[in-house]
Amino acid sequence: MTAFSIESVIDEFETMTKNAGHHQRETLRQILEQNGKTEYLQNLGLGGRTDPESYKACVPLVTHSDLEPYIQRIADGDSSPILTGKPIPAISLSSGTTQGKRKYLPFTEELVQSTMQIYRTSFAFRNREYPIGDGKALQFIYGSKQFKTKGGITATTATTNVYMSEQFKCTMKDIQSQCASPDEVIFGSDYQQSLYCHLLCGLIYSDEVQFIFSTFAHSLVHSFRTFEKVWEEICTDIRVGVLSSRITIPSIREAVSKILVPNPSLADSIYNKCVRLSNWYGVIPALWPNAKYVYGIMTGSMEPYLKKLRHYAGNLPLISADYGSSEGWIGANVNPSLPPELATFVVLPNIGYFEFIPLEKPEMQELETSPTSIHYIEAEPLGLTDVEVGKEYEVVFSNFAGLYRYRLGDVVKVTGFHNCAPELRFICRRSLMLSINIDKNTEKDLQLSVEEAAKLLAEEKIEVVDFTSHVDTSTDPGHYVIFWELSSDSSDEILQSCCNCLDLSFVDAGYVSSRKVSAIGPLELRIVRKGTFNMILDHYVGLGGVLSQFKAPRCVSQSNNKVLQILCMNVTSCYFSTAYEK
Ligand code: AMP
Repeated sequence: MTAFSIESVIDEFETMTKNAGHHQRETLRQILEQNGKTEYLQNLGLGGRTDPESYKACVPLVTHSDLEPYIQRIADGDSSPILTGKPIPAISLSSGTTQGKRKYLPFTEELVQSTMQIYRTSFAFRNREYPIGDGKALQFIYGSKQFKTKGGITATTATTNVYMSEQFKCTMKDIQSQCASPDEVIFGSDYQQSLYCHLLCGLIYSDEVQFIFSTFAHSLVHSFRTFEKVWEEICTDIRVGVLSSRITIPSIREAVSKILVPNPSLADSIYNKCVRLSNWYGVIPALWPNAKYVYGIMTGSMEPYLKKLRHYAGNLPLISADYGSSEGWIGANVNPSLPPELATFVVLPNIGYFEFIPLEKPEMQELETSPTSIHYIEAEPLGLTDVEVGKEYEVVFSNFAGLYRYRLGDVVKVTGFHNCAPELRFICRRSLMLSINIDKNTEKDLQLSVEEAAKLLAEEKIEVVDFTSHVDTSTDPGHYVIFWELSSDSSDEILQSCCNCLDLSFVDAGYVSSRKVSAIGPLELRIVRKGTFNMILDHYVGLGGVLSQFKAPRCVSQSNNKVLQILCMNVTSCYFSTAYEK
């Protein structure tokens, strides 16, 4: 991409955000004109009107389960206009790691367009601040298995649908983000073999690599944890120019062997750099000296991996990637120099029609509760340009994929405006996680408690590799169970204090009062064997998910019995909180 076109992408974005209100009305009109004859909209009495007021008056707010019967019919091969005027070419599967169940979603050409628009926009802003040269990107990306639905429509993850599109490669070229690995690695059928080869290819082209990417931060951390185990084998492969026998998939072997030639000096240099590192601090800049940054979604449920990622990235900036979902895109990160904890996303006013449900906090609770564990009072949804800075909202959107007034279930905070388009900070998923009676704790509350308790391990240089939670109601009263996988063993004494600290760190008024009167039992900390979370990852991948989209489930319900079983079978010790003992 030339300097001129970067400026023109930015100019276009500036003009569009200045006219955000106009673009919203126009986008809604286009969505409704394109899809006005569909069964879903016809039944709602819009009668061809496309203005926001009529739209809001006629069309109800929905969640995925309201639309599921319609999407199921599309998947079953009914090609009549059900949700969209044009036929739906493919189905996307949400990662399903959040709710434990994979959702079917419509995928359309317009979603490819908006993905490319988001990629170009955030690239333009990123490149203005951190310019990259010509070269490659070490991208830990994976295509997932595809299957045909009953009606013969291809179903796969949204990212795979994007990677398979014609436009993807062109855009990657434009934004200087061509993957160091061949397609056979991206689309390989075994993610462990693909991961190994991504690392290997990234090292073969180490001087050319300009940045490191994966969709979510978890996958970046997972990749370098794997590197710690396989680096010597990779060095050997490069030294002798022969691919390790662990790579058994013929297409991957063939494609990688083409670029692997004996290179003893590169192998020596990698070897020497690795042995000189202290506990792998700064491995990324050491091995990829021309990398300018590490890029991927680092907000929301990815925040717990930031500490480890910073360790691997050393002095390189971490840049949080854009905000979207399998259902559609929402906003681009146009302030790339903000640290991931403060990242915001500017809503693109032409990729959908957006509404925001104000989530008011009841006043008396304001002082007592943490910012995320609140029983919200909902008000009427507001338009994109009517939201207020400092307030929290649930995101609702309507887009060209036939999702109308769709409640995404995410809570965001408006932190400011970029021209007339709001800047959003991701707060959490709205779905409650831990609740036994009047207590309510979200994934953010859990994360904060875990961070607090993990400080007690930091002195011993032990890390919480991953964590999740469960509500155990088989005891009377019920109690919270927190599962931890640790980087190495700790003493009973320290883990007992971690357990008490976890219990005390849930400051939700409902929880504290229930604990005080024993309406909720002592919190239980269960330590699981090393590698347990990789088994959970394998389980999700086995169901058709992809490594790069994996979000560890932060709360495992009783019905998610396979994951619960993996966790319970690997418990090595458990502790009950004594924090509220009188
Ligand atoms: P999926 O449906 O599997 O594509 O997951 C979409 C969900 O991932 C969103 O609804 C968010 O909860 C979360 N997500 C996506 N992008 C971000 C982001 N930049 N920051 C935080 N969470 C995100």
